[in-house]
Amino acid sequence: MPTLEKMYSMGHEEVVFFQDRSCGLKAIIAIHDTTLGPALGGTRMWPYNNEEEALVDVLRLSRGMTYKAAVSGLNLGGGKAVIIGNPKTDKSEALFRSFGRFVESLNGRYITAEDVNTSVEDIEHIFTETNYVTGVAQQYGGSGNPAPYTALGTFRGIEASVTKVFGSRSLAGKTVAIQGVGAVGFELAKLLTEAGANIVYTDINERGIQKMKESFTNAKYVNPNEIFSTACDIYSPCALGASLNDETIPQLKCKIVAGAANNQLKEDRHGLVLKQKNIVYAPDYLINAGGLMNVSIEFEGWADSKSRRMVDTIYDKTLEVFRISEEQEIPVNKAADVMAEKRLESMKNIKNSYLGKVNHRMPGQKRRF
Ligand code: NAD
Repeated sequence: MPTLEKMYSMGHEEVVFFQDRSCGLKAIIAIHDTTLGPALGGTRMWPYNNEEEALVDVLRLSRGMTYKAAVSGLNLGGGKAVIIGNPKTDKSEALFRSFGRFVESLNGRYITAEDVNTSVEDIEHIFTETNYVTGVAQQYGGSGNPAPYTALGTFRGIEASVTKVFGSRSLAGKTVAIQGVGAVGFELAKLLTEAGANIVYTDINERGIQKMKESFTNAKYVNPNEIFSTACDIYSPCALGASLNDETIPQLKCKIVAGAANNQLKEDRHGLVLKQKNIVYAPDYLINAGGLMNVSIEFEGWADSKSRRMVDTIYDKTLEVFRISEEQEIPVNKAADVMAEKRLESMKNIKNSYLGKVNHRMPGQKRRF
C-alpha cells in the first residue's frame, strides 16, 4: 500500500523522512494524532531489513502512543521515531545531534524520548540540539531512567487485577511468573518482593539471571520455554511483544496476565482467546504507561513525588477498563481502546466552538504576517 494510503487508513497526520549523508542518519518520524497535545514517543534504533519494515513499525508504534496517552489521561498526542541502523556499529554523536536538529525543525509537534536501543547518552546528544526531548538525565532537570516508573505502573495494574480476581489488593503469597528481568522486569521483581509475592522468572541474558540470583531469595529461575506453563497466579510478560499467541496461551496456568511489554497480544483476537480461557488480561499500553507519565511531568518541572502520584492512578484506571469490559461484554483490550477513543472524541468536540481571540484573522481580513 502506498505511504499516504497507509497513513490515511491508520489515521496518521504526518510522516517525515530524514537523511543526513554526513553521519549516515536515516530516520522516520510519524505523528499519529495531536488532538490532545504534542506527539510524544521514543526513538527506536533498529537494523531494519528495508525501509518498508521501518515504516510499518513507526506507523504502528506511533498510533499505540496516541492510545496510551489518551487512556492515561495525559495531554499528549501519539508519535514515534525510528532510526534505521545497527545500534552496535552505527551510533555517533553526530548521528544523534543531526537527528535532534530534525526534531527541532518540527517546532514541537513531536517530542522524542528513549526507546529500544537508544540510551541516556544518546538522549543527551539530542538534547544538545533541541528542547523537544524528554527522559533527559536528572542532573539536567529531566526525569532520567523511566524503568522504575514503568515498573510501578505495572505493579499497580497487577494489584488492580488481583483485586478483581481475588477480591483483595494484597499480593502476599501470590506467585508471579516474570518473562524478562531487564530494566523493568527487575524493578518489578523488587516491588513484588516488598509486597510479599513469590517470583518465578526467566531471561535469555546470563547477566540478568545472575543479578536476580544475587538480589532475591524468593525468586526461582526457569528456562525460557517453561515460563508459559509455570503454575502461577499472574503471568507478567516484560520481555518482547507478541508473547501471547496461539502456541503460548493454551499453555498458561495463571488467572491473570499483567506485564510491561508492549504489544503482548500477537493479534487483537488473542484478547478474546484469553477472555474465553477465563484469564483476566490487564491491557499492556495502560499498565505500562508509568514511564510515559513520568516523562510528561518534565513539562511542569519533574519531581519524584508528582510522578509517583500520577503513576498510582493506573490502579483505578485498570479497574475502570475491567468495568467497561464487563458492561459492554467486550475483551479488556477492546475496552481500553473504547476508553481512549472516547477521550479523544470528547476532546476533539470541545474544540468546535469559536473562542473569539482578538488577533484571530476574520474572513476577508488582510494577513498580518
Ligand atoms: P530490557 O531490554 O531492559 O529488558 C528485556 C529483557 O527481556 C532482557 O533482559 C532480555 O534479555 C529479555 N528477553 C528478551 N527475549 C526474551 C525471551 N524470549 N525470553 C526471556 N527473556 C527475554 O527492556 P525493558 O526496558 O525492561 O522493557 C521491557 C518491555 O517493556 C519491552 O517490551 C518494552 O517495550 C516495554 N516497556 C518498557 C518501558 C520502559 O520504561 N523501559 C516502558 C514501556 C514499555
